[in-house]
Amino acid sequence: MKNIRNFSIIAHIDHGKSTLSDRLIQSSKIISDRDFKDQILDTMDIERERGITIKSQTVCLPYTAKDGKSYHLNLIDTPGHVDFTYEVSRALASCEGALLLIDASQGVEAQTLANLYLALEHDLEIIPVINKIDLPSADIERVKGQIEEDLGLDPETAILASAKEGLGIEDIMEAIVELLPPPTGDADAPLQALIFDSHYDAFRGTIVHFRIKQGTIRPGDRIRFMSNDATYKVEEVGVFQIVRVPQKELSAGEVGYMIAGIKTVSDTRCGDTITHHRQPCDKPLPGFKEAKPVVFSSIYPVASDGYEDLTVAMEKLKLNDASLIYEKDSSAALGFGFRCGFLGLLHLEVVQERLEREYDLSLILTAPSVRYRLVMNDGEELVIDNPALYPDPTTIEYAMEPYIKATIIVPDRYMGAVMKLCLERRGINKNYQYLTNDRLEMIFELPLAEVIYDFYDKLKSITQGYGSFDYDLIEYRRTDLVKLDFLINGERVDALSMLIHRDNAVARARVACSKLKDEIPRQMFKIAIQGAIGGNIISRSTVSAFRKDVTAKCYGGDITRKRKLLEKQKKGKKRMKMVGQVMLPQSAFLAVLKTD
Ligand code: GDP
Ligand code: MG
Repeated sequence: MKNIRNFSIIAHIDHGKSTLSDRLIQSSKIISDRDFKDQILDTMDIERERGITIKSQTVCLPYTAKDGKSYHLNLIDTPGHVDFTYEVSRALASCEGALLLIDASQGVEAQTLANLYLALEHDLEIIPVINKIDLPSADIERVKGQIEEDLGLDPETAILASAKEGLGIEDIMEAIVELLPPPTGDADAPLQALIFDSHYDAFRGTIVHFRIKQGTIRPGDRIRFMSNDATYKVEEVGVFQIVRVPQKELSAGEVGYMIAGIKTVSDTRCGDTITHHRQPCDKPLPGFKEAKPVVFSSIYPVASDGYEDLTVAMEKLKLNDASLIYEKDSSAALGFGFRCGFLGLLHLEVVQERLEREYDLSLILTAPSVRYRLVMNDGEELVIDNPALYPDPTTIEYAMEPYIKATIIVPDRYMGAVMKLCLERRGINKNYQYLTNDRLEMIFELPLAEVIYDFYDKLKSITQGYGSFDYDLIEYRRTDLVKLDFLINGERVDALSMLIHRDNAVARARVACSKLKDEIPRQMFKIAIQGAIGGNIISRSTVSAFRKDVTAKCYGGDITRKRKLLEKQKKGKKRMKMVGQVMLPQSAFLAVLKTD
């Protein structure tokens, strides 16, 4: 067997995972310095801009160690956001060890802990790395204390590094070779390979990323996906060294890709097991789960003839994102569109951005919703995530909504502010404990519906960036649910409706009415905006009549400025949607999503 080490880098967001990955790649010389672009693994534009990893990538790094032997160090990248925990867990299941990266000035944070727990669940060997030691605010002793107390790891094993300045890179490579166990597994046993990712290539079809636990895979083999029994003939296997490098075979312990003329990623599910069709293994690798969407929203094209384009774009996007689910939806106000399920709000934003950017579409999204369970008078249970399908309230016995367990880590001076935020969001404080003498871990149970809006942003702002957050779904609990509708000149706009807790309805309706008033341009007639629960109007606002002449202020003077304004107005128009006689801009649909 070759000398292999399979590892991941786990870290809280911004602690330097992408930067360190770049350094490791650079030092392995698989790519010339001339071709080197920073953050090479974060390939999607959105990932680069937002500085987060959404799709995981793998890279095989050749390394000659101090013992004189050649190694293949397989770096398996993991998505860096709470929405993608399952993908992280599959990637970790493909490794023997992990570098646990900690920012020397920030110390241990919520996702450092959450990721460490995940890694320990998979029995990974952990190498702590203290990064950003070049920063003047680096406090290595404090972080070592946290490594010992909060993480229960030996602080003396921690490697000091600066990914930015290239310090400690050699030490990290050596530690991977010395401290991480080599993979085990019989290359002659029946094939058992774990899929931890897949992506779509326009020329070659689906490229499946996997780790072989046992057996060997070669081009020409007929393989089977164990979750759905789909079979394919393998065309090519290989490893990623930024580009795909084909190999004659891959066997137990190796990480690589397979191309097999697969047309959709829906056959290749993260967490599934690949085996041989004729000599299958007895049972799949453990832990397979279907990606479960938790946030739902409808997507409509702004242009009334945009449905065809949107359909094509959704199909293409789906090829690359197996966790995106959708079905046809229609709205009286917005025409045809799709009801979609997402792993979380970030996933929703990424899908929206990709559709708009990569497919040049202009979209309207409806208020994100969680999935409610309604117990009806006749005892039947109805599951809904779409306000449009909300039944007559008198037929509902009671409603239930999903709750999460949230773990929040903050310096203790923010305890009061965090408590207030969580209580406002109907949270229940279950526990808190000091991790060190000034850092608190606070545990809350919160309705998922209360965190999908802007909870994380709020938490960041009230804690000046120091608060960190992680969550798990726990259970459904009884709730007092109402459907909040909005009427524009007396006409209900179905795409603005939302399902909401009764206690929040009046405040949300007020905010939304005033935002709508700001967003809807004046027209020749007065426009009445109302928020309503059933027949009860609970808030209202009015856009007075007038036509806004955007050039009036320019007094003929500066012609270029005038032209710019007119162009801006024209652009705004493109994003307008006629509802009855009223022009609703795209921003109006976004405005109702804001909570203050
Ligand atoms: P990720 O979210 O864990 O992938 O973090 P990134 O690699 O994107 O890094 C987050 C920020 O920290 C970026 O602005 C990096 O330039 C910066 N950074 C990463 N490593 C270092 C380091 O060793 N020293 C300093 N000073 N900054 C670093
Ligand atoms: Mg990153």
